[in-house]
Amino acid sequence: SKQIGALRAEMYHADLGRQMRERVELEKELRHAIDSGQLLLHYQPQIELSSGRVVGVEALVRWQHAKRGMISPAQFIPIAEQSGLILPLGRWVLREACGQLRRWQDQGSDPDMKMAVNLSVAQFTDHELPDFVAGVLRETGIAPACLELEITESCTMLSPQQSINMMEQFRDMGVHSSIDDFGTGHSALAYLTRFPLDTLKIDQSFIRNISSDEKDTALCDTIAYLAHRLGLRVVAEGVETQQQLTFLTSIHVDVVQGYLLCKPLPAADLENFMLQRSGL
Ligand code: C2E
Ligand code: CA
Ligand code: CA
Ligand code: CA
Repeated sequence: SKQIGALRAEMYHADLGRQMRERVELEKELRHAIDSGQLLLHYQPQIELSSGRVVGVEALVRWQHAKRGMISPAQFIPIAEQSGLILPLGRWVLREACGQLRRWQDQGSDPDMKMAVNLSVAQFTDHELPDFVAGVLRETGIAPACLELEITESCTMLSPQQSINMMEQFRDMGVHSSIDDFGTGHSALAYLTRFPLDTLKIDQSFIRNISSDEKDTALCDTIAYLAHRLGLRVVAEGVETQQQLTFLTSIHVDVVQGYLLCKPLPAADLENFMLQRSGL
C-alpha cells in the first residue's frame, strides 16, 4: 500500500504538472487574445417588472478562441486575475461596452438605458480606474448615469473602506455602483448602509431555489425588503422559470435578468430582441 500511495502521489503530481502547463499556455494565449480581437461581449437585457421595459444590459465577456472555440469567463477570468491581465482586459471591456451603448444610442435606443459592466477586485483597487472611466465616458459621450459598475459582495468585503472610497469617487462622477452576487459574501449588514450603492443584485443561487427551499425563499424576500428600506434598486438574476418570476413580482423586485427573459446575446441579436419589444 506504500507503493500504491507513492504511485498515487506521482499521478497527482503529473496531473498537477499538466494543469499548470495548460494554465501557462492559456495565459500566453489570453495575452495575445486581448490584442488580436478574440474577445467579444455578449449582452443580457435587464427588464423592469413594473413597465416591462429593457432598462439596462449587462456586458459579459467571451473569448472566441481559434482552436478551442468559445471559452467561458468562468475559465479565463481567474487566469486574467492571477496574471494581472485583468487590467488590460477590464479596460477593453469598459471601452467596448460604452462604445456599443453609444452606437445603440445613435440608433435611437432609450437614452436612459444603462450599461452594466463587471469589475474584478484588481480593477476596483486600481487608483487609476476613476480617471480611466472618466476618459471612456468622455471619448464615447456616454452620460455617467448610464454606466453601472458591478462589483461582487466578496470583493467589497476584502477591503470595505477602500471599496467605499472607490464607490464614493464614482458617485461623485455620477456613475452608478451595484453589488453583485449579494448574499454569498458574508458581509456585515452594517456595512451595507455605508456603501454609496444604487443597486443590489440577489445572487442566482437563491433565485434557483425559490419555492423548493423555504429558507432561500425567505432570504430573497428579506434581501429585497432590506434593500428597499435602504433605498436601493433590487435586481434578481438567473431567473429561469415563470414560478420564480411570479414570486419575484410578489416581493416587488425591481428588475429581472435571466434565461426566461433572454440569454446573453451578441450585439446584433440583442438589437433584434429590443426591436421586437420596441425598445429600440
Ligand atoms: P455574473 O456577473 O454573476 O454574471 C451572471 C452569469 O450568469 C453570466 O455567466 C450569465 O450568462 C449567467 N446567466 C444569466 N442568466 C442566467 C440564467 O437564467 N441561468 C443561469 N444558470 N445563468 C444565467 P457568464 O457570462 O458565464 O459569466 C460568468 C461570470 O464571469 C460573471 O458572473 C462574472 O463574474 C464574470 N464575468 C463575465 N464578464 C466579465 C467581465 O467583463 N469582467 C469581469 N471582471 N468579470 C466578468
Ligand atoms: Ca454581474
Ligand atoms: Ca451575479
Ligand atoms: Ca457570479
